[in-house]
Amino acid sequence: MPIKEFDVIVIGGGAAGLMCAGTAAKRGLYTALLERNQRPARKVLVTGKGRCNVTNNCEPQQLIQAAKTNGRFLYSAFSAFQSKDTMDFFEQQGVALKTERGNRVFPVSDKAMDIADALVGYAKHHRVNFVHARCTEVCKDENGQVFGVLCEDGEKYSAKAVVIATGGKSYPLTGSTGDGYAIAAALGHTIIKPVPSLVPIVTNESWCNELMGLSLRNVTLKLMEKGKNKPVFHEMGEMLFTHFGVSGPLVLSASSHMSGDLSRYRLQIDLKPALSQEQLDARLLRDFEKYKNKNFGNVLGQLLPRKLIPVFARLCNIPLDEKVNQISREQRKAMISLLKCFSVTPKCFRPIDEAIITSGGIKVGEINPKTMESKLVPGLYFAGEVIDVDAYTGGFNLQIAFSTGFLAGSHVCKQE
Ligand SMILES: Cc1cc2nc3c(=O)[nH]c(=O)nc-3n(C[C@H](O)[C@H](O)[C@H](O)COP(=O)(O)OP(=O)(O)OC[C@H]3O[C@@H](n4cnc5c(N)ncnc54)[C@H](O)[C@@H]3O)c2cc1C
Repeated sequence: MPIKEFDVIVIGGGAAGLMCAGTAAKRGLYTALLERNQRPARKVLVTGKGRCNVTNNCEPQQLIQAAKTNGRFLYSAFSAFQSKDTMDFFEQQGVALKTERGNRVFPVSDKAMDIADALVGYAKHHRVNFVHARCTEVCKDENGQVFGVLCEDGEKYSAKAVVIATGGKSYPLTGSTGDGYAIAAALGHTIIKPVPSLVPIVTNESWCNELMGLSLRNVTLKLMEKGKNKPVFHEMGEMLFTHFGVSGPLVLSASSHMSGDLSRYRLQIDLKPALSQEQLDARLLRDFEKYKNKNFGNVLGQLLPRKLIPVFARLCNIPLDEKVNQISREQRKAMISLLKCFSVTPKCFRPIDEAIITSGGIKVGEINPKTMESKLVPGLYFAGEVIDVDAYTGGFNLQIAFSTGFLAGSHVCKQE
């Protein structure tokens, strides 16, 4: 059977691979996109809780600042294809967009499916050949030049250039199982150890289990590190208690500021950020006066979600059935302290499977940042999360996928 020949083969039909393949094909290159799943862009479907925070409406400089690992490496990629370009791209594909809090951009429909369909539509429009196959190896000739790929089913495909866009190791059910690392390592590339980022946190407190399912809105979360007075992270938003500890947007963001031994960190939740200690004291005095003959547990219902009350009462050492008029000044002070600083101690991260992002990947020093071509293997390119780059939440990670995918697709098979 003759080997199928292409100009470019892109391995991985995620955000980066689809953008890359469409861009290469638009330049007239005969392009194949190898995707192991029946359907491409499966991870896009789960982004932004199914709404897809597709980019962040900001300048390239802010994109670089939001990329916590190797932001400067992305300078050319963000210059070539910035947030504005992403927004124009999707609007041109017929997806209307809206900008929400924190410059986060979503489709007006709130459907990640629209973003996935637009990416697939773009690639199809430019006649990308979709191949359902799992690539296992990229082949190079005796001069070290890439000439094709091998797939799990034994099929071989040849091409002048190959782009690895296989994503990271998070959410493996979407197809991203880290294959690209082994493929690149076999060609001599260094892999910076993949670790979870933007990941839920297991805590030492067993009572978190009791609070499972409780979501706190409009609280502030401070991440404190032993020996430092200033918080490492401090933001207002939403978080969630789970059977193992804590999760939700605030916690995921905080996790990307933590590394190594987590026992040196503390997560402090301000349950009443809109009120100062004095204002809270006045509010408590008012409530206690109004309900002086009621049980403490019942009065707490004015202040806290029902699920939190038993744990809160235990932590400030006041029995739930204590009459409010029996509560001492010291006990009230303890309550205020706890309301302003409800603390949990991190034990470890949840596994990489549950992380939003994989930190680590192909060492950036071995990739030309202006083209995304390997400095070690001519004709080999990289795009997206497989590279050792990652960012905070806010649409920045998809922007990295689009920018690097566009840059690689614009340079493959070019005589530089
Ligand atoms: C739950 C969740 C929510 C998220 N929400 C957001 C958000 O709202 N905004 C944001 O900016 N980012 C978000 N992210 C991160 C974002 O989804 C990723 O950064 C982005 O999808 C990475 O794109 P990629 O193309 O590099 O990799 P992927 O999207 O992982 O795509 C890689 C593709 O390669 C395929 N593949 C892998 N190995 C092979 C192989 N050997 N052969 C053939 N195909 C292969 C996979 O099946 C997959 O389709 C979220 C991530 C998760 C998990």
